[in-house]
Order: sequence, then structure tokens, then C-alpha cells
Amino acid sequence: MGRYLMVGAGLSGAVIGRHLAESGHAVTVVDARDHIGGNCHTERDRDTGVMVHVYGPHIFHTDDAEVWDYVNGHATFLPYKNRVKTTARGEVFSLPVNLHTINQFFRTTMRPDEARAFITTQQADTSITAPRTFEEQALRFVGRELYEAFFKGYTMKQWGCHPSELPAAILKRLPLRFNYDDNYFFHRFQGMPEQGYTAMIANILDHPRITVRLKTVFDAAEAGAWEHVFWSGPLDGWFGYDLGRLGYRTLDFERFTHAGDYQGCAVMNYGATDIPYTRITEHKHFAPWEDHEGSVCYREFSRAAAPGDIPYYPIRQVAEKALLQAYVTRAEATRGVTFVGRLGTYRYLDMDVTIREALDSARGFLACLARGAAP
Ligand code: UDP
Repeated sequence: MGRYLMVGAGLSGAVIGRHLAESGHAVTVVDARDHIGGNCHTERDRDTGVMVHVYGPHIFHTDDAEVWDYVNGHATFLPYKNRVKTTARGEVFSLPVNLHTINQFFRTTMRPDEARAFITTQQADTSITAPRTFEEQALRFVGRELYEAFFKGYTMKQWGCHPSELPAAILKRLPLRFNYDDNYFFHRFQGMPEQGYTAMIANILDHPRITVRLKTVFDAAEAGAWEHVFWSGPLDGWFGYDLGRLGYRTLDFERFTHAGDYQGCAVMNYGATDIPYTRITEHKHFAPWEDHEGSVCYREFSRAAAPGDIPYYPIRQVAEKALLQAYVTRAEATRGVTFVGRLGTYRYLDMDVTIREALDSARGFLACLARGAAP
């Protein structure tokens, strides 16, 4: 039986910890915060009783049947489809860009094939064959007019730089549809845990061989006390940022309450740069099966993370690649520690991918032990 430490009580630490505990190992999970769940943490709002996504909206969606079974084994998931709206040029549009958005934006009544042909004429620069940056991808994807209304301003606010400095992968997250399907995601399985994500993660951590210590800052000098450490903190943080800091965006949330229904949907985006926030989340719409008279909303502001701020989004600026590669090379050469999760691997991971990688990581680790190899 090994003694293993998970640094961070978010999805990665919980899933890996549970897997190792079920295989007979003793697991300790530490987290500097006073709650488990990492940035998926949910809690009831003090005034309205609404379940709040404390660190911003989290919607579970996946094509991975094993991951879907896994989360359903630890929580009751209720049907939830994310239908995001965006306010631009004084009007409300449907996202992701779909036939309704296109027809409303261009004041047309096109059918799918007509819209498809029309968007091709909009695709400004047909010389872009393999888009590298966010901007190239957007111009190729929807053309200049839709890009400027819906993506350019939002992206500059969200990421603090010009879309030409960002990787195309960020935009590849979003679909473009030539029908009236306004489901933000295209995955087969989608839903929301009835009691929130923190209850689900508490369930995952609920095992006799798992000890959770909150308000506990991991001290790197103690790493040797454990047979292996799974680190879900920032990749550069493990190395004391000694090569320099990788860029992260942090978020500030401005909470306000409202009697009744404030905006009629869970997420309203704002593409215009004269509005300083990126979106407003009205949390009660994430739990349509609950009934609350009052409402609590968060205005979301994005800015560069300074030391001490909570890191949310790895930026992965095109210019940052060399520094990232240097840290990754070092991480790969470091014995006794596995780097996991969004922060530990410095990638823009969704919850389902985080769980998939955590399961794979735990299995790979156990396979290594079984072979007698040093993980
Ligand atoms: N995006 C945008 N306008 C929008 C929504 C998204 O420009 O109205 C871009 C933006 O760069 C954002 C990215 O698409 O960071 C991915 O959007 P997503 O909704 O997946 O972001 P998340 O909810 O993960 O913050």
C-alpha cells in the first residue's frame, strides 16, 4: 500500500485519489481553500438560496460514455442544455452562431443551403487554408462581419490581447450551425448535477482511505514525505516560477441580486468593448427544476492574473510557447510527481476531459507500480 498526496481537491485530485484509494492505497488530498471542488465549486447563495457556480459557469457535456457513467455514479444529473445569448449592436442574438443568428444579423430568411453559400462569400480571406490564430480561424469560419460583432470584442476582453495573438484552438471550441439548433455544445451527453458540483466531488472523495485537509498549503519541502505527489496547481508554480510566469487570466465577479428574473437565461454575453464585462450569469437558470423568487447574478470581468490571483484560463499565447515548452520538458523529467488538470498541464480543459485524463493518469500510475517501474 502506497501513501500518495493529491495537491488540490478539484476534479483531478478527487478522481485520481478515489481511483488509488479503491485500489487499496492511502490518499491524502490537500487544498489551500476552505472548500473542495476547485473552480467547479458550487454553493447556495446566502440571500436567495440559489445554487451558485462560485468561480463561473460550469456545464457538463461530453461524448465520453465512461466519463458520463462516472459522474452519474457520483451525482444525480438532470437534463440541462446551455442556450447562450449575446448582446451586440443593441440587439440580442442566439449563440453559437446558427441559422437564427445569421438570418437575424443579416435580416434575411435564408434556408440552410443558402446560408451556407452566403457564409462562404463572407469568409473574407480564402487564402487562409490552415488557420493558425484565433483571428484567422474566425475569418475563415464566419467571415469578418460576424467575427467583429460577436468574437473580436469579446475575445479582446476575455483574453486581454488581440485575437491574432491567440491560438485558433480557442475558437474551435464553438460550433457553427446552418440550422436552428442553439445548443451551445454538440456533445451526446449533457446535464447538471442536481445538488451542484461540490456535492458530486464530496461523493467522489468519500472513501475510507481518503483524508481531505482543507486550508492546507502544500509545502514543496515536504514532497519527499510522500511516495508520489499529484500536482494540480499551476505547472510553473511547482518550479517556483523560476523560468518566469506563464500567463493566466483571472476573473472578478460582481454579484448582484434581483427580484424575479433578471435576464431570462443563464448566460448573456456582451461582445462590445464599451461594456467592460464579458458576460452576466444568472445562476438560477442553471437549475430550472428549482423554484426561487429571488435571483443572483454575476457580472464577469477578465484581467491578467497577478501573483496571488486565482488562475482561471491558461492563455497559451503564440509567443509563450517556448517558456511553456521549457516547463513541460522539466515536468517530464521530474520523478515522483505527476502534473494534472487545467493548471498542472496548462491547458484549457473542460470538465469531461479533466476526468478522462485523471482516470487515465491513475490507471497509468497503477500499471507502472504493477511493473515495478518508478512512475
Ligand atoms: N467567444 C467569443 N464570443 C462569445 C463567446 C465566446 O468571442 O460570445 C470566444 C472567446 O474567445 C472565448 C472562446 O470563444 O474565450 C471560447 O468560448 P467559451 O464559451 O467556450 O468560453 P468559456 O465558457 O470556457 O469561458
